[in-house]
Amino acid sequence: MSFDALTLRQRFPVLSRRVRGKEFVYLDNAATTHKPDVVIEALRRFYAEEYATVHRGVYFLSEQATHAYEQVRVKAARFLGAARPEEIVFVRGTTEALNLVAYSWGGTFLKRGDTVLVSAMEHHSNIVPWQLVCERSGARLEVIPMSDRGELMMEEFERQLTSSVKIVAVTQLSNALGTLNPVREICALARRAGAVSVVDGAQGAPHLAVDVREMGCDFYACSGHKMYGPSGIGLLYGRHELLEKMPPWQGGGDMIDSVRFEKTEYAAPPRRFEAGTPAIAPVIGLGATLDFLASFDRVAAEAHERQLLEETEKRLRAVQGLRIIGTARRKAGAVSFVMENAHPHDIAAVADEEGVALRAGHHCAQPVMARFGVPATARASFAIYNTVADVEALVAALHKVNRIFS
Ligand code: PMP
Repeated sequence: MSFDALTLRQRFPVLSRRVRGKEFVYLDNAATTHKPDVVIEALRRFYAEEYATVHRGVYFLSEQATHAYEQVRVKAARFLGAARPEEIVFVRGTTEALNLVAYSWGGTFLKRGDTVLVSAMEHHSNIVPWQLVCERSGARLEVIPMSDRGELMMEEFERQLTSSVKIVAVTQLSNALGTLNPVREICALARRAGAVSVVDGAQGAPHLAVDVREMGCDFYACSGHKMYGPSGIGLLYGRHELLEKMPPWQGGGDMIDSVRFEKTEYAAPPRRFEAGTPAIAPVIGLGATLDFLASFDRVAAEAHERQLLEETEKRLRAVQGLRIIGTARRKAGAVSFVMENAHPHDIAAVADEEGVALRAGHHCAQPVMARFGVPATARASFAIYNTVADVEALVAALHKVNRIFS
């Protein structure tokens, strides 16, 4: 197995189009990634030739679709290193996965006096669901602080880990800062303290090889659309022992064993958590995505992305008036920055004129912006198909920003 960014890039049709008369440079991969030919073709083929509902039909196409759908669960379990396919719940994405855990586990087991610990660099989707369940249960939300570099303060975390802490929810990789967190250590400490660990893998899964058992987490959430797959589908990994104790969070078809007006018996996990007709085609597309991810050397891909990030940071430091936000020692995937003379939205607008898609805003991490005292940042984020030429286009656009605004 090998890895070559330029060869892989050709597998992504949209990347060869021109934007505003310029070559398209896509650096908003932390928001969502583009799709390779094999994923697009798998979706086309499924709709054109194989489409049917799953789990219910006794006819040929439905049996075939059900088999294909359940095979993706097997692949997803392998992709995340789960012990068994039943530990994988299909969800809409990371947001839904985190809400499921907060609502079902949190809603059942949290009570007044308990504490939920989240980190200071969480995406809103790993904050708000916990606030909602804290409001209902009377539990308290506490925050693991971070340093000026954007690294979690581990000693403080250990002090915070008292017996009242029932949940520790942290991101593997920050979308706003690019910080890689020591999730293995965090999960081990949480487990020792008797707390359940929830890892937001929205940014981790696209960039790093994941093994949930090696990581030692209880729950892990990720989104298909951020790792070259279809939108509308994501994965929740949950340790079977925990999933078994959790009640459904939505009721409907497919999540039951039997329904009587007097009493309904719920299906075993994962079906218990998948009410209604699922995202059939996106699951099939996700299967093709997982095959795609297994078709190249992911360790080499990780090294390629790391090199791009280092190269970008080196060149950004040479741009006048530019300040990188988030200077953790271990980073991946994204670099956030501000410039003296231009608001992040102006930076992104000038970059867009040059065909460079950058992100500007709070990145759904307003507490991170508050921590660093900025209203927003510009962010460049990378994928396997980015090259040094993309970095050069970015830096040229930033020099143009300086020419316009200074
Ligand atoms: N967590 C992190 C760290 C993210 O970057 C994102 C997406 N920006 C999410 C959670 C939410 O993912 P989704 O919108 O796919 O549910």
